[in-house]
Amino acid sequence: MPDKNAVHRAAAALRTALVGKQLVGFEAEKLSGPTPRLGRTVEDVVSHGRHLEICWDDDIVLSTNLGFRGSWELYRRGETWRKPQRMARVVVETIDWVAVCFNARDVETYRPDSFVRHPNFGRLGPDLHDANANINECVRRLMTYENPTISIADVLLDQHVATGIGNVYRCEVLWSSEVHPLAPVGLLPQSTCVEIVRTASAMLQQQNTEAPSDLFAYGRNGQPCKRCGGVIAVQYHGTPERLLYWCPSCQLGCAPAPEPDHSDPIARLTDSHPAGSMYISEMVQNKGLFTDNGDQAAS
Ligand SMILES: [Zn+2]
Repeated sequence: MPDKNAVHRAAAALRTALVGKQLVGFEAEKLSGPTPRLGRTVEDVVSHGRHLEICWDDDIVLSTNLGFRGSWELYRRGETWRKPQRMARVVVETIDWVAVCFNARDVETYRPDSFVRHPNFGRLGPDLHDANANINECVRRLMTYENPTISIADVLLDQHVATGIGNVYRCEVLWSSEVHPLAPVGLLPQSTCVEIVRTASAMLQQQNTEAPSDLFAYGRNGQPCKRCGGVIAVQYHGTPERLLYWCPSCQLGCAPAPEPDHSDPIARLTDSHPAGSMYISEMVQNKGLFTDNGDQAAS
């Protein structure tokens, strides 16, 4: 019967052995959630009470509830286990070590949202592959997203908002909705949130029944946009980095304000964006000094 200190000590041992090491083997029967991918690096091992979590650098967290009978044990590769293999619920292997979780009460993996590393903080959003998915619930989750400054491109991959939208369809949905992928989610009006969710739902259900239709953004970098003739761009975005394809010429909905370019203030004089004008007027008022004084900027 492991007490909480034993779990804490096990986490410390696993942290020493595993953090910074690549995953070379993973087994877990009856795992609920995504499987950690081989080659990913262990980022942290933490414990809360009788829960022990292993976090990988692709944002997958393995959460084990050890209850009163579970334990984590650490072995050198090739070393004989002290408990029978049938009692193992999870096996995590690196090049040097094998960490085995025996008799855990619950084992699951999840992708945390950016802020709260615990599955109980948020249940998965509706699955948009399902024709009966609750669209309004997805819209509500978008509109009340915990951090309104996060980009819509990131939020669409958060499984707590909706499940089923992968990297391909987040690019296609944003292209179809003409929304800038880096738009802060808190800037999106309700009508745009509704359009994004309905578009995603329609695309994913079409994927259920038909061969995938032509893609308009994903994988088309350097090619002309089929709507405006601009050039489809690609960039790495997010943590972990994923390729984001979009059209900078026509995906302008809710575009974020440009970053002030401190390196070349004169270039800003030609920027017609309102945020650019405010920046210039602030700079002039302060005789070239850059300031955070919002009152002056607004006056
Ligand atoms: Zn375009």
